[in-house]
Amino acid sequence: MQRIEKSGFQYPNLIVNSILFTFEDVLGLNGLNTALKFAGLSELVNNYPDSNLEFGADFADISSLFQSIEEIYGIRGSHALLTRAGRRILVSYRDKFAPLMTFYNLELKPLSHEERIKHGLDYIIKMLTQTGNQEVSSFDTKDAIIYQITNCSICFGRPKVDHAVCHMTAGIIQEALNWVSEGKEYQVLETACMAKGDPYCEFRISKESVISSKA
Ligand SMILES: [Zn+2]
Repeated sequence: MQRIEKSGFQYPNLIVNSILFTFEDVLGLNGLNTALKFAGLSELVNNYPDSNLEFGADFADISSLFQSIEEIYGIRGSHALLTRAGRRILVSYRDKFAPLMTFYNLELKPLSHEERIKHGLDYIIKMLTQTGNQEVSSFDTKDAIIYQITNCSICFGRPKVDHAVCHMTAGIIQEALNWVSEGKEYQVLETACMAKGDPYCEFRISKESVISSKA
């Protein structure tokens, strides 16, 4: 496949490091190496950035990896893999920053259920989009919270397709909701995506939980 041209926007190494280790987990080392080579990213094979806060990989490197995963595993297969990877990335972030996250959780505790969800999501989505001119706006409808992300790093430069591709973001949001709601599951849909030609990527999060893992 054609590697996506550099965007000039970079991720902190820590994020790229945790994305690559998570995919090593989800795809296996051989699977990840195949996807990296297919994406034209051989320089990252067995050579991940350190987990520091310096700026390293370009947005286009990561979106090239996601494109490669979709071409190798198909639309449905990659949807499942990328959602799972997104959830795991948040779990590993939570483990890595356990004291900070525990503190944050205590701050959320006194809030109402709906406020907790809103604040928790704002925190996670801001963390995801703090670099590269990404902008986030959000609003509420009667039964959903809507987030819109412009200049989305996840689908940066992806070839135009007829379906949404930012499944990793949806997975991260699902896991964030599970965390702030203490074990509940919510439906998260990507209802617009820049890869489809939309002006932003939009995520619709239903306010009503679907399943409780504690039930
Ligand atoms: Zn998208």
